[in-house]
Amino acid sequence: MSTAPTGPWRAEGVTRELSERGLDALLVTNLVNVRYLTGFGGTSGLCVVSEGDRFFMTDFRYTERAEREVAPTGFERVEAGREALEQLAERMGRAGFSRVGFDDAHLTVRQHGRYADKLTGIELVPAAGVVEGLRAVKEEGELAAIRAASALADEVYGLVPERGLAGRTEREVANELEHEMRLRGAEPSFPSIVAGGANGALPHAEPGADVIPRDALVVLDMGCRLDGYCSDCTRTFATGRLSDDASAVYDLVRAAQQAALEAVAPGASAAAVDSVARELITAAGHGERFGHGLGHGVGLEVHEEPRVSQAAEGELEPGNVVTVEPGVYVAGELGVRIEDLVAVTASGHEVISGFTKDLVTVA
Ligand code: ZN
Ligand code: ZN
Repeated sequence: MSTAPTGPWRAEGVTRELSERGLDALLVTNLVNVRYLTGFGGTSGLCVVSEGDRFFMTDFRYTERAEREVAPTGFERVEAGREALEQLAERMGRAGFSRVGFDDAHLTVRQHGRYADKLTGIELVPAAGVVEGLRAVKEEGELAAIRAASALADEVYGLVPERGLAGRTEREVANELEHEMRLRGAEPSFPSIVAGGANGALPHAEPGADVIPRDALVVLDMGCRLDGYCSDCTRTFATGRLSDDASAVYDLVRAAQQAALEAVAPGASAAAVDSVARELITAAGHGERFGHGLGHGVGLEVHEEPRVSQAAEGELEPGNVVTVEPGVYVAGELGVRIEDLVAVTASGHEVISGFTKDLVTVA
């Protein structure tokens, strides 16, 4: 799998953070973070970043791949033998590290125990979020990859009207959408959601054997992963004539989504953007039926920093890519969610998702 361009500058972002935290080095074990920093896309490896030393360790199965993928980022490649942790300890000891940050959000207690055991003389300091913070601000190459993944998902959405929804099972539709992604060289970035009628009231419904009813709303939530980068988009379709209540809920969610989208700008607090949609939905009497945050960051992972919710503390900054996805879920009846992917730019925002948000009726 190819990936969007990476380079040595990312590790420089880590070293800046290290000096602020008083750390000699960062031990990176989360593979997504390893990939972000080193370019390595395999499933076994770690890297260490310090001011003067950057190395990547993997076992013999990946040596060749590492040579190809990691070389451009300037990380030294170290082949791990049978005693990889001893090797790591020896290497860190030689470099004179005493305080080494590790990803406490990722390492299990057992793994941490093994590292702490072997890395004698080194204090392992919790340092979750260092790489995630860098990942939250996308470079131009990453934005291009996300746009491409999103355009592909738009194309797949474009097939929905001709393929039909009503009378088919949710699973059949979900499989078909994912097949279309694969035909186009992408993977689903997460298991697609197809939720018809009352199933739409479950925000994370798994598509099952239920047949999509006529004259109902259907929530489709899907994304592509292309060159390592994800997209994420939700649209709600109709399968015939809707009740006035159902139409009103659709119009409400669409208006709330649009208003929140327009609030996305550098310096806007993430919680305030959430509030824009939430207040409109609450004013219409559906506040209790919007039970999740407005959105989340998207990049190498489909859920990453920054979060856009009432609990979010930060402000949006140029290079953030987030979703704006308010929903209203009426238990036992229906659900509506509309989700766009949006990039924060220097002066405002760029909506990346392209498929129409007008209510599309699919027989
Ligand atoms: Zn989604
Ligand atoms: Zn999402």
